Amino acid sequence: MKRIVIVGGVAGGMSAATRMRRLDESAEIIVLEKSGYVSYANCGLPYFVGGVIEKESDLLLQTPESLHIRFRLDVRVKSEVLNIDSAGKSVVVKNLETGAEYQLQYDKLVLSPGASPIVPNIPGADRAFTLRTVEDVELIAGAVAIKPKSAVVIGGGFIGVEIAENLRHKGIATAIIEATAQVLAPLDPEMVSFVHAELLKQGVALHLSNGVSEIGPDSVTLADGSKIPADLVIMAIGVRPDTSLAKGAGLTIGTRGGIEVNEHHQTSNPDIYAIGDAAQKTDALDGGATLVPLANLANRHGRVVADHIAGVKTRTVAAIGTAIVKVFDLTIATTGWNEKRLSAAGMKFLTIHTHPNSHAGYYPDAKQMSIKLLIEPNTGRILGSQAVGTDGVDKRIDVIATAIRAGLTAPELADLELAYAPPFSSAKDPVNMLGYISENVLSGLVSTVDWSKLEAELAAGAVLIDVRSASEFANGTIPGAINISVDELRDRKSEIPTRKLLIVHCQVGQRGHTAALLLTELGFTVKNLDGGYRTWRNSPAGLTN
Ligand SMILES: Cc1cc2nc3c(=O)[nH]c(=O)nc-3n(C[C@H](O)[C@H](O)[C@H](O)COP(=O)(O)OP(=O)(O)OC[C@H]3O[C@@H](n4cnc5c(N)ncnc54)[C@H](O)[C@@H]3O)c2cc1C
Repeated sequence: MKRIVIVGGVAGGMSAATRMRRLDESAEIIVLEKSGYVSYANCGLPYFVGGVIEKESDLLLQTPESLHIRFRLDVRVKSEVLNIDSAGKSVVVKNLETGAEYQLQYDKLVLSPGASPIVPNIPGADRAFTLRTVEDVELIAGAVAIKPKSAVVIGGGFIGVEIAENLRHKGIATAIIEATAQVLAPLDPEMVSFVHAELLKQGVALHLSNGVSEIGPDSVTLADGSKIPADLVIMAIGVRPDTSLAKGAGLTIGTRGGIEVNEHHQTSNPDIYAIGDAAQKTDALDGGATLVPLANLANRHGRVVADHIAGVKTRTVAAIGTAIVKVFDLTIATTGWNEKRLSAAGMKFLTIHTHPNSHAGYYPDAKQMSIKLLIEPNTGRILGSQAVGTDGVDKRIDVIATAIRAGLTAPELADLELAYAPPFSSAKDPVNMLGYISENVLSGLVSTVDWSKLEAELAAGAVLIDVRSASEFANGTIPGAINISVDELRDRKSEIPTRKLLIVHCQVGQRGHTAALLLTELGFTVKNLDGGYRTWRNSPAGLTN
């Protein structure tokens, strides 16, 4: 009988275990988990702190008993794997309740030990809570129960903003300290400004571009010397792959610091597989090594590993990097690469910004969202997308992620036949619109200017025309713009400077597009400001004006 030993009994490990059983009734499957729980919803942990998820038991999706009844899995909690003898094909396990250690042979070993929260070496760091396991959340919930007045969350990543929101739900004065200039690193600056505004609106204090130098008994001292009250401190500055067992076993650690695996998720020892947050992934965009510490891939790769062990044909699953997070009333979703990463890699890209409604504007409760699409100029390949809004963001990013996976080009987004009725969408869905705009830009029908290039174009002599109505113009415009509404362009043609590059802008880019084509027909050289005033207003250029 084949024995499969799995280290880690949550996302990746448990997916591998249950799939394995479905494929092979005769295999002996042993899951070793050092915490007291398996198959728990770590993604739900922040919501237990805030009371959105009321019962701790709701976080526990399975128990060792239920897994035995249905799958005949041998699940051992409070069982830590101390080391691996890859030559002898065995692991040493410590029973954390009794302290007893024992050796366990395996035919195949699957490592899914996850990632460890990074805790920097600063004075007082031991007072900070981290959030990874049910035990962690029990500690935090215990600390929240004694009604702290103030909390500091160090790190503005996904977990940091989620826990900050939930601490606010508990009425705790909460601050986020973030070393970079923004929260949520996958967003580019003109997209994250909506999130900053929402956090501030909901009473979360933001200390950006600031580190923490010391955690005191009831405060946190920042790198700039200021002190913030902190009855409670949560450390959420990121995670690093847990490679301790792999290193001890002499397995190859990859360039990104995760366990290196091949397309079947086999490590440098073919009898040992690694999946989930501990393992490196292959990036779908450039084929390079990447880390994507998210649940979808951990689950997917767990299944693929079980298939491979069982001899089932598998497909290679490269990582696109699709993520979503809720920040109070906002939904933020991203897929693929962002502009910062593309620029750092020296890759060429075009940007498209739109601000469509979640559904037909004439049907009640349509909500405006903002979407950014990044495209490879010559091929139209979709490189990435980001969306922020209150409704409908999730499905747009999921469609774009699907398009990336299917290899569709940006103009082909126009061809997607998406479900439409007024309460749900528009006949031209926001994703279709991205396709139309891509087609217009890539075909050369219209030229656009990104918000980040506007200042340079104006400095080089371009003339900026705000083609919105006079009342919109009066409510705020880009410095230096003259106002001729799109409907007046033909009649006021004589007022428009000739032999100069014209840059037109409207509120979101749509009337600007019409204006750009009209003025081109009238003999002018024109570019449309991508995403219009709304994109510029929320960009660093607009926010500092
Ligand atoms: C608070 C929080 C919120 C999250 N929210 C989201 C979200 O909304 N969306 C999303 O996609 N992802 C989210 N994630 C990330 C997601 O949970 C992980 O990507 C996923 O769980 C990784 O699966 P894994 O199997 O690699 O590791 P895990 O699910 O972390 O499981 C690893 C397990 O291995 C055990 N272990 C480690 N070492 C040993 C050892 N030596 N012996 C025995 N057992 C060991 C650990 O105790 C742990 O239980 C969140 C994570 C956290 C912590």
